[in-house]
Amino acid sequence: MAKAFVIGAPIAHSRSPLIHGHWLKTLGIEGSYEAVHVEPDDLPAFIRHNDFDGGNVTLPHKEQIKPLLDRLTTTAQRVGAVNTVWREGDRLVGDNTDGAGFIANLDATEPGWRDAPGNALVLGAGGAARAVVDALARAGFAITIANRTMARAEALAMELAENAMITSLLQAPLERADLVVNTTSIGMDGSMLPFDIKALRPDALVTDIVYTPLETPLLKAARTRGCRTVDGLGMLLHQAVPGFERWFGERPEVTAELRDIILADLGASA
Ligand code: NAP
Repeated sequence: MAKAFVIGAPIAHSRSPLIHGHWLKTLGIEGSYEAVHVEPDDLPAFIRHNDFDGGNVTLPHKEQIKPLLDRLTTTAQRVGAVNTVWREGDRLVGDNTDGAGFIANLDATEPGWRDAPGNALVLGAGGAARAVVDALARAGFAITIANRTMARAEALAMELAENAMITSLLQAPLERADLVVNTTSIGMDGSMLPFDIKALRPDALVTDIVYTPLETPLLKAARTRGCRTVDGLGMLLHQAVPGFERWFGERPEVTAELRDIILADLGASA
């Protein structure tokens, strides 16, 4: 029976056991997926001595785990963080599936969105932004990164999208954006990004990777302007697909039923 983990500290809030548990049940696979609280000091021992087939890695271990693994995928190397681990023989491999999850979510909700890649405005330059910028650069978008701390945006661009333009959040060029992606944590507390949304073109596609609340103030304002909007819950569901396939041998589907289960759980804990 295959066994997978999600490790983090804290870990009780993770929705991953619900997602993978649903897929194990609906696909009739005998396997387990469990949340394990691992403190940073205990990470090396956990990685060296466990009987799992792999698992997911969340904060604060996404970077610290890298030297403990035998191989990183090229994506994990570029992004500089690992969220999915599996075994290949006696070797442990680390990948980062956030960018693939971001792309797959838009593919599912807005088919054709990357057929003619235009200008993408990425708000934020933190860990999640790295995966999003990497994925958008590889999809051929011309990228602008807007962040409160400009130096962080510059460093991100230098590493992952050397032709990207850099601005402050206040000067984000909304009027030129075909695609707007919020990767900052602004919106989680109900606050709006510090710019005038009226500059946004109504034909722009706007997505937020924050999913609590599901409709962030940015998405609400964009919808009111007539823009197409995509929330961040789908990215969470889609980033889980490759890991499940590695550990349990079947590629699961992101369905409306799964989304409703997670939404109900988010509602229950709101
Ligand atoms: P992070 O590394 O801490 O980065 C946070 C980003 O938000 C930085 O760009 C930071 O700007 C900006 N920021 C935070 N507070 C701000 C404020 N008051 N004003 C202006 N900018 C502010 O976090 P992360 O790991 O990238 O995660 C970001 C968000 O994405 C979180 O809400 C997380 O839950 C969500 N997320 C969702 C998914 C998904 O599957 N949907 C996956 C990963 C993450 P500075 O650089 O100036 O500090």
